[in-house]
Amino acid sequence: MTTTRKAEDQELAVEHVLEGRNLVKEFAGRSGLFSRKGSQVRAVDGVTVRLRKGRTLGLVGESGSGKSTVGRLLLRLLDVTEGEILLNGDDITKEKHRDLRRARRAMQMVFQDPYSSLNPTMRVGELVGEPITYHLKLRGSALQEEVDRTLVAVGLTPEHARRFPDELSGGQRQRVAIARALGPSPEVLVCDEAVSALDISIQSQILNLLLRLQEEFGLTILFVSHDLSVVRHVSHDVAVMYLGQVVEQGPSDRVVDHPAHPYTAALLSAVPEAKPSAQRDRQKILLHGDPPSPSAPPPGCPFASRCPAAFEPCAEIRPEHTPVEGGGTVACHLQTKGPVLAGRPVPIELLVKRKEAVH
Ligand code: SF4
Repeated sequence: MTTTRKAEDQELAVEHVLEGRNLVKEFAGRSGLFSRKGSQVRAVDGVTVRLRKGRTLGLVGESGSGKSTVGRLLLRLLDVTEGEILLNGDDITKEKHRDLRRARRAMQMVFQDPYSSLNPTMRVGELVGEPITYHLKLRGSALQEEVDRTLVAVGLTPEHARRFPDELSGGQRQRVAIARALGPSPEVLVCDEAVSALDISIQSQILNLLLRLQEEFGLTILFVSHDLSVVRHVSHDVAVMYLGQVVEQGPSDRVVDHPAHPYTAALLSAVPEAKPSAQRDRQKILLHGDPPSPSAPPPGCPFASRCPAAFEPCAEIRPEHTPVEGGGTVACHLQTKGPVLAGRPVPIELLVKRKEAVH
């Protein structure tokens, strides 16, 4: 596994390549025996994310938190209900057809499952060549050269171009998927659970490949994952999502080493330690219950029904984001009310003690 990204990286002057401002995405709710006709599911609820040039933003949360939807909104694969998307400062929120093509070339996606994301009837050379032809208009020997160059860049060889996906291992397939995304020379790569379907040993290889490609091509990466142990190793910045909202964000080292939100602390307490003794010593924060339904979100903090530290204002008043020591922001009443933390990390004793008191 690669090492955690260093704080000095985050101090370099960088510009935002891609921004999502106050993004909201609502889907039509399923109608059923007890559901109201015309109800809306708010999958993303006022999310702002900024991707810095040449850096990785890790977007982490449980299944159903809205993190993958944010990735698709930024890529304009889904239309926003509210909010703005800016690519290099240009508003692309409403762009259509030909105008959007430029943005599509600049932003490519790597999907989770290399088994279903590659057409099994196409050879690797065709799979990698297709987006290059579409976006760069290359054909003939120029196309072949570009395909070969891209395959080598992802650790394959030109000989792989003749093979079909089912002649490749899982790791090789994901390299082909990355080559397809890399072919049009994008500025931004969105990796949606890009290593989740792979064995642990292969995960490391693909993560290291992404880090190398980022350095080589200056890529800006949005790394979407449910797995904080993976995110912490590849990301310069982390945003933690819960029930469609970003509840904490900031430099990766600060968020991982000094979480300021109880949900982030709970996620971290569930990350396995390499040493069994460290695992035994760790205080685990157990969360009970399921997240509320996004079709009936609570008026206050989205985490209130599961938070071991919830207190009087949490269920009714939605917390605003406030600054955290060491960088970033957090949306939690503990920062401004009750046992005022004022930008400091949330003490784990507060979360563990409260849990024991409840049970
Ligand atoms: Fe817990 Fe309240 Fe903070 Fe939400 S606002 S995370 S319920 S303490």
